[in-house]
Amino acid sequence: MNAAISSSAGARLAVPTVPLLVGGEFLQSASTEWRDVINPATQDVLARVPMATASEVEAAVAAAAHAFKTWRKTPIGVRARIFLKYQQLIRDNLKELAVVLTSEQGKTLPDAEGDVFRGLEVVEHAAAIGNLQLGEMANNVAGGVDTYTLLQPLGVCAGITPFNFPAMIPLWMFPMAIATGNTFVLKPSEQDPLVTMRLVELAIEAGVPKGVLNVVHGGADVVNALCDHPDIKAISFVGSTGVGTHVYNRASAAGKRVQCMMGAKNHAVVLPDASKEQTLNALTGAAFGAAGQRCMAASTVVLVGGARQWIPELVEKAKSLRVNAGTEAGTDVGPVISCAARERIEALIASGINQGAHLELDGRNPVVAGFERGNFVGPTIFSNVRPGMRIYDEEIFGPVMVVAGADNLDEAIALINANPNGNGTAVFTQSGAAARRFQEEIDVGQVGINVPIPVPVPMFSFTGSRASKLGDLGPYGKQVITFYTQTKTVTARWFDDDTAHHGVNTTISLK
Ligand code: NAD
Repeated sequence: MNAAISSSAGARLAVPTVPLLVGGEFLQSASTEWRDVINPATQDVLARVPMATASEVEAAVAAAAHAFKTWRKTPIGVRARIFLKYQQLIRDNLKELAVVLTSEQGKTLPDAEGDVFRGLEVVEHAAAIGNLQLGEMANNVAGGVDTYTLLQPLGVCAGITPFNFPAMIPLWMFPMAIATGNTFVLKPSEQDPLVTMRLVELAIEAGVPKGVLNVVHGGADVVNALCDHPDIKAISFVGSTGVGTHVYNRASAAGKRVQCMMGAKNHAVVLPDASKEQTLNALTGAAFGAAGQRCMAASTVVLVGGARQWIPELVEKAKSLRVNAGTEAGTDVGPVISCAARERIEALIASGINQGAHLELDGRNPVVAGFERGNFVGPTIFSNVRPGMRIYDEEIFGPVMVVAGADNLDEAIALINANPNGNGTAVFTQSGAAARRFQEEIDVGQVGINVPIPVPVPMFSFTGSRASKLGDLGPYGKQVITFYTQTKTVTARWFDDDTAHHGVNTTISLK
């Protein structure tokens, strides 16, 4: 057991509790409201997580506000070196972090390592803050006058994260916020907070000072308190469109800067000239990996023209995937996060049948020896899918691929641009001209060309169009420096003795 997880008193002695982090101390919450953190492959209760009280949220924000007074003036090299150490600690503990992640989230161990690794890349980016948080300077904008900009931290910032990437997404947030000189209050997903807490412990070990990083747990009440708190200057949210829209509106109304990265329905367009084998492999991995619980999952396939004939081979690929607990070697598809998620996915599959889609592969109720209580849904494929069906209109967030057809590329582009979501998309083709046309015309944030899950590396920013994103600036990359700083523009003159005769200037012009 690690230091951040302590044994609970009372009736359920064996179940550890997840602490808060306030002012550098890992604290047991005084809350009377707790929920279980459950292993989705076994239903074992791994820990209990509190819904923090209003005064605990207040204490976390107060600790962050206090720490900001000194942290904002900490030299940039000192901040950078903490993240240099932090990236090494994450690297050293990567296997252990993946085990914790798989136990509470369900994804396979190699994919859990990928979850940590994609977050680690952002920590490496934060360690380069000395090259990122740079203002501009113009010399002699008027006689003896220079203008320059300072990118100053905002103050206390907060982050609210979803269950599906409990390592990567917290690491999208607090490292860049803290590296730019802010202090932070993190609200992890209450469904799988354990790996997030382990990463927080490592951040403290790396030297993040007391109060600079704080953690509160909870659901809607805690999130609303963060949205409303006058001392919080910016909020980064990743999660579903409904909740993200609420957070955006509520926190914006309270005067905060807000970025919300939200839900998706990602289409992969397959042109008949695409490299068939590689394309089918890419589609299968991108639809069913992580049991489809990725905001960038290629859940909707649009087969164009002759590529419509490829459905049987796609089904064969999907059938070959092994459904099992994420801890087991050779597993391709682990369980979904909760019993409720499984029921929701199964209900959507039933709706697809009822609404006339053709069920090519039914993954419901797979038999998983040794893990009979797990929340498993096997790879499922529907063809003949059209807008207006729930399986097309809603984000399923499970291992369900829906296949639609189009006569040509323009028809496929029109279909995608008419969908409310604009998170990710991909085109598979050997034609540069077709790919370029797709890239130009498509209204989606992340575009892959023969790349099924085009999540950008940290020198670029994650983005999104339409219902998938609110706020102008994305996490990480160059945009996040702007998000987490206030630009101050300084215009300065140092008088020379020989300018005393210049007299009074009553005009707006700089002279
Ligand atoms: P969610 O919206 O249910 O939860 C996200 C966070 O909001 C959690 O911390 C949760 O505690 C909090 N929350 C839940 N209900 C709330 C409410 N009523 N009021 C205030 N806060 C509330 O999302 P999830 O199920 O954890 O994650 C899956 C969703 O996240 C999917 O829609 C997925 O597409 C999206 N996602 C998007 C991205 C992206 O970058 N665009 C990345 C990952 C996940």
